[in-house]
Amino acid sequence: MNRHYRNFRTVVYIPAQVASRFTPESLASDHAFLEKTIGLDKVYLESHRDGCDVDKEQLLMIKSFLEEKGVTVSGGITTTIDDFEGTEKGKRRIFHTFCYTDPAMRERLKEISAYTASLFDEIILDDFFFTNCTCERCIREKGDRDWTTFRRELMRDVSENLIVKPAKAVNPGVKMVIKYPNWRESYHFDGYVPEVQREIFDATYTGTETRSPAFADQHLPEYLSYSLVRWMDNAWPGRNGGGWFDPFQCWSTDRYLEQAYLTAFAQAGELMHFCWSDLLIDSPFVAAMGIQLKKIDALMDGTGKPKGVPVYLPFASSGENHLEMRLGMLGLPIEATPFFPEKAEKLLLTESALTDDQIIDKLVRFVENGGDAVITSGFFREAQEKLRSAGLTEARLTGRRYAVTRYHVTGDDAGYILDRKPILFPEIVHGNNDSWSLLNGGDGDLHASILLRSTYGKGRLYLFAVPDNDADLYRMPAEAVDVLKRTLLDGSLDTYVSGADFSMFSYDDGSFILYRYVKGDVRPAHVTVRTRKPVKALVDTHTDPRFPEGRRFPAHPVTVQEDFEEYTEYCADVMLIPGLFRKYRWE
Ligand SMILES: [Zn+2]
Repeated sequence: MNRHYRNFRTVVYIPAQVASRFTPESLASDHAFLEKTIGLDKVYLESHRDGCDVDKEQLLMIKSFLEEKGVTVSGGITTTIDDFEGTEKGKRRIFHTFCYTDPAMRERLKEISAYTASLFDEIILDDFFFTNCTCERCIREKGDRDWTTFRRELMRDVSENLIVKPAKAVNPGVKMVIKYPNWRESYHFDGYVPEVQREIFDATYTGTETRSPAFADQHLPEYLSYSLVRWMDNAWPGRNGGGWFDPFQCWSTDRYLEQAYLTAFAQAGELMHFCWSDLLIDSPFVAAMGIQLKKIDALMDGTGKPKGVPVYLPFASSGENHLEMRLGMLGLPIEATPFFPEKAEKLLLTESALTDDQIIDKLVRFVENGGDAVITSGFFREAQEKLRSAGLTEARLTGRRYAVTRYHVTGDDAGYILDRKPILFPEIVHGNNDSWSLLNGGDGDLHASILLRSTYGKGRLYLFAVPDNDADLYRMPAEAVDVLKRTLLDGSLDTYVSGADFSMFSYDDGSFILYRYVKGDVRPAHVTVRTRKPVKALVDTHTDPRFPEGRRFPAHPVTVQEDFEEYTEYCADVMLIPGLFRKYRWE
């Protein structure tokens, strides 16, 4: 039930160690604080974590208190465990995760699942439900299989027989929810198999903890808090319960809040604040969260469904990890999906798409039938011979790299951008006039293509050279990145915005949100919003309190020269202030 907000529920996780310490008095005062700050709709109350098991009386005391206050109470389990009598010793278990071949640990997990299901009608698993155990018993059971294959089969068995069946045996109606961590590109290495587990669990949940990209574990671009929710929504349609973030390694209020903004912009139904004690002890963030949640809620009222450039990231794939998120931070709206989007007008393939062993055939058919596909140099590196023999391109990567200091938007005689700090790009060579370069990079008298177009059937294939350090994408000139943005636009995504360090979140009702991150160059920036549709003005719909009817920015026509073509774009200039989100639509 949404008690405090119209567009999402506010949820807090209570770890077992916290639950075991509550007295009725401390619970009441904590609850009053959270009710006053963020407004509490729901909690997940944990029964087990590490060496901590919470007894039934304590769980029921907490549950009945919170339910009386109108809070929905579900259960939680963290599948970590300390050594106990009967387990084999000497296993090197990261984060104390279970060894799922150890008979005593298997029995213990069944008990935990059944016990928790006897108390709650919904249970979520925190994202330690993986295995990297390489103990002697696991090595023996693995046999000739590789670890990924072994763990895939092992975790199917564990999910079914040690988690879901024991829970449903004591409570047939219990809803079992598996939360996935923020490291999608590594799921399959550790036995996380959403493509299998979506047949076993009732629902899922998405880790959106992006923290501090440069300094925190996994170095996740901020945009993940949006794009991973979208990927999971597409993977488990209608069954992605919410997004889950925490304050760890955030170090600034904006960085913490941004996780919630993006999770809500992706339309996660629940915003999970991990965890209860972190919101109460020494947190400078929580009061600001309460204020911002109200604004996000107002912003999201009446918003359509998210849409973006389809990026195909198959299940169990890795390669050019997070690249699509970098593009999201350049203002391209991204819709990540584990299924090949054969009906799309345009699509983007990164190295991860190579996991699909049918990908070349799918790509050839897609282009032949009239689609426009952008492939990255990481995808092309492995696929180039096959693509050449399929006749999609004659281009090749030489294996050499060169430092780009000059850019050229071809087809525009004045489209040169000079004297930029060097960025290392892979060198593409191609047959002149067999394919055509839309964007060049160069240094000295050398230049090569950064975005190259070939044609095949009714469609087009674009090869995009990605810098060695993909974070250098943020340092490319806006006019150069605009070429890629224009290439990825289609009939339904008709607007793009020049610039970097911001994201654009697009919806199928024609509205879009712009948000400039509080990072690096923390200054307001002028950006230009562009469309080829004849429009009169851009309207900031309601987020500027000085303009209750919406603030109008008149659009002006601009002639664009590109690709031997001249056309008109309608442009409106707005200022993006770091940390403030704005919602717009054309008029
Ligand atoms: Zn083991």
